[in-house]
Amino acid sequence: MDYKNPYLSPFEEFQRFKTHPAIRKIIEGGKRISYGARALIEGGLQSLPKMFMPGALLIGCDAGTLNMPKIKGSHTAMKSGMIAAEVINDHIKEKKDLSIYEDKFKNSWLYEELFKARNVKPSFSWGLILGIIFTGIDQILFRGKLPFTLKHKHADHETLKSVKEMPKIDYPKPDNVITFDKTSSVYLTGTNHSDNQPVHLQLKNPNLPINYTLEKFDEPAQRYCPAGVYEVQKESDIYKFVINSQNCIHCKTCDIKEPSQNINWITPEGGGGPKYGNM
Ligand code: SF4
Repeated sequence: MDYKNPYLSPFEEFQRFKTHPAIRKIIEGGKRISYGARALIEGGLQSLPKMFMPGALLIGCDAGTLNMPKIKGSHTAMKSGMIAAEVINDHIKEKKDLSIYEDKFKNSWLYEELFKARNVKPSFSWGLILGIIFTGIDQILFRGKLPFTLKHKHADHETLKSVKEMPKIDYPKPDNVITFDKTSSVYLTGTNHSDNQPVHLQLKNPNLPINYTLEKFDEPAQRYCPAGVYEVQKESDIYKFVINSQNCIHCKTCDIKEPSQNINWITPEGGGGPKYGNM
């Protein structure tokens, strides 16, 4: 999510990716049966927040235990859950503080694995080629044991440049064979939120999208949301920012990428959301 061009649409990029001859020949003749989206947490060890607090532990992708170079997170999430289970057991039986999670985590193979992978993602801020060369040296020659740790230079929401600095991107129309639009794709997620529940996508400043973000970034929420939740509508020459929260498929991109951090994703009421039966 650290791209610079506010005109970029991850959804449209993926549709275009499917038209590459090497990909097209694999999926041609197939049938679209489902759709989903999720922002992966690639920051690794350096981006992990404090994982314990009074009465709660953060585990798996809620904390960010994905192994980025492997693009695998199930085994690491499960291990963080197993450690959490031990900690909760000790907490209940022996009244131990939940802060022992940190020590148990640091003494586990999970920490060791994430430590070895820590320099991969930050190295890609030097560009794809240098990132690949460095990763080869770091992972194959040194097996993740280089004596330094690269830092992430910025948060993902800080990387967007203004529309004046970036070229507009025109994406081709969907052919409804290989490529599709957002509306019909979201329908396949089976996402559902009851109509009368409080909106779970909250704006800290409701005027910001139109008064600032629209002019500076052409309101990128219209494009980075893979479910078309955010729209800018014009009525009698007045712009309006519309949130179709019932379509949200819980990818969390808006919470991560909104340049002013104005969107706050809160847990929706009543267990609503996508039904990813076929994924
Ligand atoms: S509203 Fe936010 S969390 Fe929901 S689908 Fe769109 S970008 Fe993802």
